[in-house]
Amino acid sequence: FRTRLRGSSSIIRRRIATLGAYSPLFYREPLEIVSAEGVWMHDAKGDRYLDAYNNVPHVGHSNERVRLAVSQALSSVNVNSRYITRMPIDYAERLLALFPKQLDRMFFVNSGSEANELALRIARQKTGNRGIIVSDFSYHGNTTALAEMTTGLTVHETLGSHVRAITIPDLGTCVEAKDQRDLTAHALESVDQAIASLQSEGYGVAAVIIDPIFSTEGMPTPGQEFISGLVDRVHKAGGMYIADEVQSGFGRTGLHMWGFQHFHRLPDIVTLGKPMGNGLPIGAVIAEGEIINHFAAENQYFNTFATTPASCSAAMAVLDEMEDKTLMGNAAVVGAYLKHRLESLRTHHDEIHSIRGSGLYIGIELSYEGEALGKYAADIVEGMKSLKVLHSRIGRYDNILKIRPPLVFSQEHADMFCTNLDIALHQGRCQ
Ligand code: PMP
Repeated sequence: FRTRLRGSSSIIRRRIATLGAYSPLFYREPLEIVSAEGVWMHDAKGDRYLDAYNNVPHVGHSNERVRLAVSQALSSVNVNSRYITRMPIDYAERLLALFPKQLDRMFFVNSGSEANELALRIARQKTGNRGIIVSDFSYHGNTTALAEMTTGLTVHETLGSHVRAITIPDLGTCVEAKDQRDLTAHALESVDQAIASLQSEGYGVAAVIIDPIFSTEGMPTPGQEFISGLVDRVHKAGGMYIADEVQSGFGRTGLHMWGFQHFHRLPDIVTLGKPMGNGLPIGAVIAEGEIINHFAAENQYFNTFATTPASCSAAMAVLDEMEDKTLMGNAAVVGAYLKHRLESLRTHHDEIHSIRGSGLYIGIELSYEGEALGKYAADIVEGMKSLKVLHSRIGRYDNILKIRPPLVFSQEHADMFCTNLDIALHQGRCQ
């Protein structure tokens, strides 16, 4: 990393000297961003980039409504949760109304990690069990408990002895799967084994936690039968189903507000983060009142920054913007259009193996013979950057191009993305 960046600009050297390895940077020559609005980002050299990657600025970079709402809160009152202020209550009512009626109570937190950490505590206390089931290539956050169940990112912590990893069946493209029913049955067998192992070692099952769009995994499509089988088995073992909506929530997948709705199974606990405040740190844990009360009866949960009116005002402005500009509908329409255009690109680019995902969370699975897949995908991401389009890549082999723009992405932006991807793929092939 150091060698690669030698001779780089002074801002990169200062960043490394102060922040070290904190949050790995994108790109062989990292970008210094000086301003952004809507779906556009501007770097220090004066170049403009189409942002097809960032999901935190959900309703667009530098959104005016969010700015005004936060500014208004900061210039009136922004105290912690030991006082009653109106905005957190107004927002909680508005947010909970977007969930099935059983999920009627919530905690505010400041990040996706905090949300998942709290969800684990709630599940452990409610069930009296400690065991956790995760997918074998997943990420749910950066606390100690979450690091001990991280399978999709390098961490020093080894998998906790109370954690079992299961494989998510990839019904879309698994080449070995002659029969999709076999694949599901095989995956459910691994769930049975995980549960049996947790029970025989005395941990029991506290919860299974999944990201309903399986983004770290590379957006496999496991199918209804698998999800139902998984949740049924976990419930039968006395555990809870936690839906980590940090990536999939707030209408990103187009057809539904929440990713779990694609599978028609109600989670026991839902966690939220990233796009909720359009850049302000805010997240939530949502469950049935009885579950939250059970936790609250034995735990004084205090969280200084959560519930501050400024963050809640940003979150409220996000919902207002989504509603006024029908952004979930936009994710559905533009996402479908983009998928359609990518499918036609696939007809003359053999290296595109599949198009996956939903709404404005789309993956382009690349295969490329004779070349390390990850390196090839990295070259495409770099190629797109030189064409002034930003996106990324994910998956076990890092070979799935990831498109996850602010929801104000339009058909015109989708066209721009596809035109440039066509060029980048041609250039990639010639290297
Ligand atoms: N869950 C998922 C699915 C995530 O993708 C992330 C962040 N990438 C987190 C949780 C953690 O969120 P945060 O970084 O806000 O703590």
